[in-house]
Amino acid sequence: MKDRRADKSMALHESEAIILQSYSLGEADRLVSFLSRAAGRMRGVAAGARKPRSKFGSTLERLSYVRIWYFENPTRELVRIRQCEMIESFLGAFGEYASSVALSILSEVSQAVLPDREASDANFRLLLLTAQTVKRTGKADLPLAYFALWTVKLGGWLAPLDRCGFCGAALAANSAAYVARGGSAVACGKCRRGGMRAISPAALALARQMLAERLDKLPDSVDAAGIRAAREVIAIMLDIIEQQIDRKLTSRELLEPTA
Ligand SMILES: [Zn+2]
Repeated sequence: MKDRRADKSMALHESEAIILQSYSLGEADRLVSFLSRAAGRMRGVAAGARKPRSKFGSTLERLSYVRIWYFENPTRELVRIRQCEMIESFLGAFGEYASSVALSILSEVSQAVLPDREASDANFRLLLLTAQTVKRTGKADLPLAYFALWTVKLGGWLAPLDRCGFCGAALAANSAAYVARGGSAVACGKCRRGGMRAISPAALALARQMLAERLDKLPDSVDAAGIRAAREVIAIMLDIIEQQIDRKLTSRELLEPTA
C-alpha cells in the first residue's frame, strides 16, 4: 500500500476534537465523524482502526475528547486520520441508561446541526461541558435541557423568551406562554395561535435561567418539579431542532416520555 504521508499534496493538521460517530469501513478501517475545535465538523478514515491492538485503541469511541492529527487533501472530502491521543473518555458514562441516552442525543444533534467544516468554539465548549456534566453527575435532564436550549440559541432559532413575539407584551413569571412550531415566536395567552405548544411558567423560568448562567453554575440535581421543567425544555427544544433539520432524531425515541 502506498504511504500517503509521502504525498506532498496532503497537509498535516492537529486539533482538539470530539468524536461524534464512527462506522465500520471495509475489513479493518473506520469512517469517523468528528468535531475539530479548529476546523469544525468533518469526516475521515482511520485506517486499520478495527484491527486488534490498533494504535487508535478506544480513542474513536463516541464523544471521546481527543487530540487528533490528520492529513487533508484539498480535492477529497474525507481526511485521513493519522493519530489520536485520548484527553478524556466517556465510555464509562455510556454504561448507565439515562446518561447513555443523553450522550447519544448530544452526538446525534451535533452531527445533524453543525455545519460541515465551520469552526465554532461555542458549540465545541457546549458539547464538551455538557458531556462532562452528564458523566460527573450521572444526571441527564438538566445538562440535556441546557445543551438543547443552547444549541437552538447558537443556531439562531430561539425566539426571545421575555416578551410576546406578536403583541410585545412582557411575559410575566407566572403567566401562560406558547411556543410556535419551529420556535419562531413565543406568544402570550391572547396571541396564542393554533398548533402552538404550551410552555409552563417553571420551564420558561428554567430556560431563562439557563440562558443567563453557565451549566456548571446550575445545581447538580433538582427536585421532581425541576426534572419536569427540564424535560419540558428538552421536548420543546428538540422539536425546534427536528423542525430545522427536517427529520426525527432517532436517539430521542429512547428518552423517557414526558409526563
Ligand atoms: Zn401577545
